[in-house]
Amino acid sequence: MGVCAQQSYQSSQKKSYKVRVLLAQTVPDNGFNWHIKASDGVVFIDPEHPAHKLMYKNNNLNVTYKDGHWLINNKKFKTSKVCIVPQKNHLDFNDNSYAGALLLTCQDQKLYLINIVDLEQYVYCVLRTESWPGWPLEVNKVFAIACRTYALHMITNYQLKKVPYHIKNSNVHQTYKGMHARNDLKQAVDETHGIFLAHNNKPIIAMFDICCGGIIPSFMQGIDFIKAPYLARDYACIHCKRCKVFNWKAQYSLDQLEKILKQEIQPLKRLKSVKINKKDKASLIQELMVVGSSGWHSLPIKKMYSLLKDSIKSYSFSVAVQGKNVIFSGNGFGHHLGMCQWGAREMIRDGWKYDQVLNFYYPGTRFMRLN
Ligand SMILES: [Zn+2]
Repeated sequence: MGVCAQQSYQSSQKKSYKVRVLLAQTVPDNGFNWHIKASDGVVFIDPEHPAHKLMYKNNNLNVTYKDGHWLINNKKFKTSKVCIVPQKNHLDFNDNSYAGALLLTCQDQKLYLINIVDLEQYVYCVLRTESWPGWPLEVNKVFAIACRTYALHMITNYQLKKVPYHIKNSNVHQTYKGMHARNDLKQAVDETHGIFLAHNNKPIIAMFDICCGGIIPSFMQGIDFIKAPYLARDYACIHCKRCKVFNWKAQYSLDQLEKILKQEIQPLKRLKSVKINKKDKASLIQELMVVGSSGWHSLPIKKMYSLLKDSIKSYSFSVAVQGKNVIFSGNGFGHHLGMCQWGAREMIRDGWKYDQVLNFYYPGTRFMRLN
C-alpha cells in the first residue's frame, strides 16, 4: 500500500483519539447566548462523573452563564462542565452540524464551547474546507494524512497551552465547519485510516499552505528548525510553478495605500513609494520602507501583511510605483512551510503516490498508524 515503516503509535494519548475543537469562546459577563439544536432530545452529562446523566427532550437549547453557573433554557447547572450528547443524529450550532458531543466548560474566567469528535470524523469534516473541489482521490489522501497528523500533534501538545481544547476551528489551525456528505473525501479518509507522519515517533506539526511559490524553507529566518527539522526542506518545490496561484499581483493607488498604511504609521504624509528594506536568505521580505513627504518609515512585513491581507498572498514579492499606482507582484500563497497544496496536486498528476508526495514535503519523517 505504499506506506513504509508503519508501527504502532506509542503515546500517553493512546487511550483516546477524540479531538476537542473550539467552536466558541467568550467571557462570563458579556451577556452572550449560544443556541444549540438537536433533532430528538439530548442527554446532559457531567464529564467529571459520567454516571450523572440527565435526559432532556427539548430540541432548542439556549445556553448562557450567570453567577458562576451554566444555564440551559434557564435550568441551572451546578458543575463547571456540561457535556451535551444528542439522543440521535447530531447537534447544530451556528448553522453547522456537529458529530459527537458538545462540551461547555469554564476555565480561567473564560467560557468555551467545544466539539468532542472522533479523530477520523474530524479529518473527514476538515477535508471539505482544507481541500479543493474536484481534486483527485490520491491528493485528498495526502491532505487527509496531513490534517490527521496536524490534529494529532495538537492533541499531543495541548497540555502545554493550558486551554481546554486541542485545536481551533479557524485557519489559525484547520478550518472546520462540521459535517458534510462528500463521498470522495470519505474514501480518502478511510483509505488512510489512522496513518500519520512522525518524527522521533511523535506526530509532526504538518503545516501546509496553498502554494509555496518556489521558496526553499531551510533558508527562512525565525523558524525553529531544531524543534521541527522536517520543515527545513532544503530543495525547492518546482511543481506548483505552472499553477495559477503561483504568481499574484495587487495594485493600489498611492492615496488608497496611504490611507491603509496610516493605520500603522500615523505620521505618514503624502506617500511616494514603498521599498523593500530587508529580506532573508529565502528571499522572503522581513521589513519594508514606506517613503512619504514625512520621511522614511520602516514597517515590519507582518504588519504590512495584516493590513493588506486581502491582496498580498505571501512574503515573497516585489514593489514598483508606476505613475500614481503601487504594484505588488509576488509568488506563492501562504506561509511557505511544509506541504504545498498545488504542488502536491501537480505531483499526483505526474504519477507520484501520496506517500512519495508527503516524503518530499516533510523530509526525514516516516509513516506510522494509530491502532
Ligand atoms: Zn510549491
